[in-house]
Amino acid sequence: MDRREFNRALLAAGWATALAPASTLAATAKSLTKITGDIEAVTRTGGDTTVPKAALKELQKSLRGPLLLPGNAEYESSRRVWNGMIDKRPGLIVRCTGAADVTRAVDFAREHDLLVAVRGGGHSISGKAVCDGGIMIDLSPIRWCTVDPETRTARLGGGSLLGDLDHESQRFGLATPVGTVSHTGAAGLTLGGGHGRISRSFGLTCDNVRSVDIVTADGRFLRASADENPDLYWGVRGGGGNFGVVTAFEYQLHPVGPEIYGGPILYSFDQARQVLPLIEELTATAPRSLAADLFIMAPGKRPGNFMVSVCHVGDPAEAERVLAPLRKAVKPRVDQARLMPYSALQTSADAGTKAGRLYYNKSGLLGRLDTDFLTMLLDQLETAAASPDQSAASNVVIQHLGGAVADVPTDGTAYVHRDARFDSVLMTAWEDPAYNDEHKAWLKGVFDEMEPYTIGFYSNHMVDTDKDKAKRAFRSNYERLAVLKSQYDPTNLFRLNANVKPVA
Ligand SMILES: Cc1cc2nc3c(=O)[nH]c(=O)nc-3n(C[C@H](O)[C@H](O)[C@H](O)COP(=O)(O)OP(=O)(O)OC[C@H]3O[C@@H](n4cnc5c(N)ncnc54)[C@H](O)[C@@H]3O)c2cc1C
Repeated sequence: MDRREFNRALLAAGWATALAPASTLAATAKSLTKITGDIEAVTRTGGDTTVPKAALKELQKSLRGPLLLPGNAEYESSRRVWNGMIDKRPGLIVRCTGAADVTRAVDFAREHDLLVAVRGGGHSISGKAVCDGGIMIDLSPIRWCTVDPETRTARLGGGSLLGDLDHESQRFGLATPVGTVSHTGAAGLTLGGGHGRISRSFGLTCDNVRSVDIVTADGRFLRASADENPDLYWGVRGGGGNFGVVTAFEYQLHPVGPEIYGGPILYSFDQARQVLPLIEELTATAPRSLAADLFIMAPGKRPGNFMVSVCHVGDPAEAERVLAPLRKAVKPRVDQARLMPYSALQTSADAGTKAGRLYYNKSGLLGRLDTDFLTMLLDQLETAAASPDQSAASNVVIQHLGGAVADVPTDGTAYVHRDARFDSVLMTAWEDPAYNDEHKAWLKGVFDEMEPYTIGFYSNHMVDTDKDKAKRAFRSNYERLAVLKSQYDPTNLFRLNANVKPVA
């Protein structure tokens, strides 16, 4: 059978192989880090330890992907994550090519009692994917995606990005709800919940997980689904990385695109005061097929603006009908909501969220768009213009939830915030570290005003990790998560996350 015939046979069998497995490439390029001696490292609980040279050599021999140590060029690039504020130096990095390497790394971490960081796409704002002195289990080589158009399912490697899943699924006019920036990691986003543009139609990303392959703290390789380990299946849909390292996800897909009705309706910052009160009505009465995310850019180097980012699944005439009163009430400065490729909408925010800039954010879920809240927000955002830092850009993103997200009971999965109609994220990005304290203080001040209007927060935006924060992020599901944690990770090996403490 020649290659073309083979590919045809694959398609006939309903399988489309997508990205070349990065693991193949990584294996051939395996870097031979020179191990010159013992290394000083940090333990699970923050103490000092020494990892002997002989153990490192044995680990290196057992891996398909590279073991990276400080001083190695690849080590420097691998320890970098999306937020340029994070500058942590792991004692060692294992760049895993698959479940076998992940198992070796987890076993090694447990045997040497090392602090563990697990990296998916590296987008956690607080840098949970990397640690000082411990072991970083880096999944970024595990980037592959296969789609079965007949069963409308996709399988995705544990280090893949959202764009990988969208790209392969859209080949068949299919999609599952994922986040709004395509370079975000699928693993971290899915495990914490996953708010996306089409969530009002099809639920959260985690609601569309059919199964995961996971390496648990004791080194077991398990599948979790409705039929296998259903307790774990419940926990990984919203409970974050608390229970192990997910090496693959299986998702349910839905017919979406390749063209959908969507795009930005843009107003000036001043017009926002007129438009925002209309948005509460629009979002409260909109059909679940339509999401209207809001993006308010604070005045700074450029004048601020206000954007309604539309995404509609279904008949475009319905979207036009729903948006007509808004368009009529206040004429937008620029109106680009129209039929467009779903893939273009899903990558439209990528350039504005580049990796390596300095970022800080705080977030809170909302039950409604209160007029007092919106007025306060605009007043507060205007104060950003006083900053002398010309590189800074501050904004608030208000993601439209509800619809299918609210169909799932609060205890149906570990993700608990089914009642929230919006997720609001206040963020500042800048270039010069000299302004770190100024921007953080400004943002905290604005958030102090925002917080009383919030009804909880989403664990994937969590910045601090104390127990009370995690309890507030998981609310009534916390106790069940804690019991599950004691079963699957009794020593809290996986602690750099929205951490649930095992019950004693
Ligand atoms: C630009 C940007 C846009 C965003 N947009 C959205 C959005 O639209 N919707 C939304 O819901 N969220 C959004 N988020 C938040 C996002 O969900 C979190 O940042 C999420 O943690 C990203 O996952 P990651 O794999 O890239 O992160 P990482 O930093 O790699 O990991 C985050 C956490 O997950 C754990 N983890 C990662 N991979 C695995 C794995 N394979 N197995 C077990 N644990 C793992 C890590 O240990 C860590 O605790 C956005 C974030 C950014 C920076």
